[in-house]
Amino acid sequence: MHFCSLASGSSGNAVLVGEAGRHFLVDCGISGNRVLAHLAAVGIPVEELEGILVTHEHTDHILGAGVLARRLKIPVYAGEGVWEGMEKTLGRLRSDQKKVLDREVTLAGLHVDLFTTSHDCRQGKGMKITGEQGTLGILTDTGIVTDQMHKALMGCTSFLIEANHDLDRLWKGRYPPSLKKRIAGVRGHLSNIQAAEGLCRWVQSNTQRVVLAHLSEENNTPELAMRTVCSILRDSPVKGRCPKLKIRVAPRHGPHELIILDGENA
Ligand SMILES: [Zn+2]
Ligand SMILES: [Zn+2]
Repeated sequence: MHFCSLASGSSGNAVLVGEAGRHFLVDCGISGNRVLAHLAAVGIPVEELEGILVTHEHTDHILGAGVLARRLKIPVYAGEGVWEGMEKTLGRLRSDQKKVLDREVTLAGLHVDLFTTSHDCRQGKGMKITGEQGTLGILTDTGIVTDQMHKALMGCTSFLIEANHDLDRLWKGRYPPSLKKRIAGVRGHLSNIQAAEGLCRWVQSNTQRVVLAHLSEENNTPELAMRTVCSILRDSPVKGRCPKLKIRVAPRHGPHELIILDGENA
């Protein structure tokens, strides 16, 4: 199993996930052309893409989904409420390209279990993706971590987790008070500390990789996110449990290296 964030943050999100020559995208908030360029950069043939799964209807997650689905003739998977919120933006699709998600789906040979996020949208989803060689937990665009998320994400082999903001920077920053409240609120985004606290529970001895995602350009920096998360994990049982854990930040405008889970300890 492998994965790679192609873009991350409020300017657009897309994650490539796949195994054995079959792949799908989680979200497509960048243009179709940029997706194609980024796939080429990580060496994934575009014809191997089998679908787009949409977490929620915010523009930074759907911008290029309609164009790419039409161009590649692939289906888009989203919850019923998400479809209602995004149909206009996506534009015309064939009826067999519109797949309504419920709680689970098998896509490109990978099993996806979905859970509900707490976000100011209609029906946000996070997920655990299970392949032959590992599991990937994806959680972005949520204001809080719930018991359902703990249950789903416990012991995944890899994670792509939102570390949106540094709370201090957010409160002291230049955003209007109402926006600050929204971001830090129950239906907003996860802070660096919230991401770290989740990871302290979810990272087990089999975990190989963590990617911090959806960083705010205004209220965070890659260095600050890494410093905060790593220092909390270092002072937690995770250090003993998983001494070789690799953590990185998803770049805002492009892909990072394709992360390949080798199935060891999976
Ligand atoms: Zn977002
Ligand atoms: Zn959102």
